[in-house]
Amino acid sequence: MKNVVLLGATGSIGKSCLNVIRQNKEHFHLFGIGFGSNLDRAQEIAKEFNPDHIFVDQYQTDKSHIFWQDHSNTLSSEDELRGLIQDSSVDIVISAISGFAGLKASYFAIEAGKVILIANKESIVAAGDILMPLAKKKNSEIIPIDSEHNAIYQCLPLEKNLKEISKILITASGGPFREKPLRDLRRVSLNDAMNHPTWSMGAKITIDSATLINKCLELIEAHYLFNIPESQIEIVVHPQSIIHSMITFIDGSTIAQMSNPSMEVPISNALGMGKRLPINFTEIDFTELNLSFEPVAHDRKMIFDMAREVCNKKGNLGVIFNASNEIAVDAFINKNIDFVDIYEAIQRTFDCFTCSKINTIDEIFEYDKEARIQAEMVIKSLH
Ligand code: NDP
Ligand code: MG
Repeated sequence: MKNVVLLGATGSIGKSCLNVIRQNKEHFHLFGIGFGSNLDRAQEIAKEFNPDHIFVDQYQTDKSHIFWQDHSNTLSSEDELRGLIQDSSVDIVISAISGFAGLKASYFAIEAGKVILIANKESIVAAGDILMPLAKKKNSEIIPIDSEHNAIYQCLPLEKNLKEISKILITASGGPFREKPLRDLRRVSLNDAMNHPTWSMGAKITIDSATLINKCLELIEAHYLFNIPESQIEIVVHPQSIIHSMITFIDGSTIAQMSNPSMEVPISNALGMGKRLPINFTEIDFTELNLSFEPVAHDRKMIFDMAREVCNKKGNLGVIFNASNEIAVDAFINKNIDFVDIYEAIQRTFDCFTCSKINTIDEIFEYDKEARIQAEMVIKSLH
């Protein structure tokens, strides 16, 4: 029996994790959950799974909710979060909080040498320079949940001989605006952007998928997780989301991982840690498949150029890229800026900083703060 701490339990990934755990109760015990504000959902999860510990972030204020009657000993400080994650009984930490807010949990898990299943790609993008060496030092195993990275993880040879890899191909659905040129996107609404063709996900990552910034974050994530130069990572648009990523080896073989789009597939692979766990899934009907591939539209190239620069120069650039995107996405969700302004806000904020080396996790938090202030100023100047 493995003790699992699931952070981001009330979210979309959280739900898929719970579905996998529910189907494999004899292997996993929910030792702890963490969430932000959805007390109704947390109440339901607590009732069904009876976790030993519950963490809720301090920003939660609705103290009159019935949740508090049943869970008065809920954890909420940063020290308590660290204590929960680093408890010696914990075997697996799932980092599935959305955005930069998930970094602390990822950091605490890696610091304690835990097995960490990482959905929170923003942690790796913002703090890859700190987290990857720390994981090595602390012997913390990082297993990706993001479907593309889990696909790559499944395709890698067991001995992980990176010299045998010619190229990693990350697939992209292309999002809801795949067939629209950038110049036609000025007037798209929040609803249009939230209407993802193949995946149902949380709000932030759904907007990231519409802008393709999600693929930029994934490019940087892959670069750090697999220690592969960006020049060996190609993005391929594959609208059906059946092939989740591929590796071409130096002998000309390409290995792909396939499934119908469901996050339960990569999650069960990650939770299985080398063993295949049984889950309910919809089989691919190969006789009905019609797979297609195309390059990323040329008019979105500028954001991939930024992401590739992050991979090549590293340091503070990842945290700046990530923070400016988070501020811009928030502004778009709150209807303060147009869809295409997201690109403008990221590019202008990014251009305000020069690359500097990062030595500590605290510096990441400082750059994040600075980049957010800068992005807010840029956004004000846009209108
Ligand atoms: P959701 O918005 O659906 O869920 C986010 C979760 O994080 C919720 O449980 C939320 O709690 C919690 N949360 C937010 N802020 C805080 C905070 N400050 N402290 C504690 N908990 C917090 O997001 P997703 O599940 O879609 O995404 C989660 C992560 O997984 C992201 O990094 C995303 O990029 C990544 N990912 C998601 C995929 C997907 O299919 N959804 C696919 C691949 C990666 P509450 O709702 O209670 O406030
Ligand atoms: Mg993905």
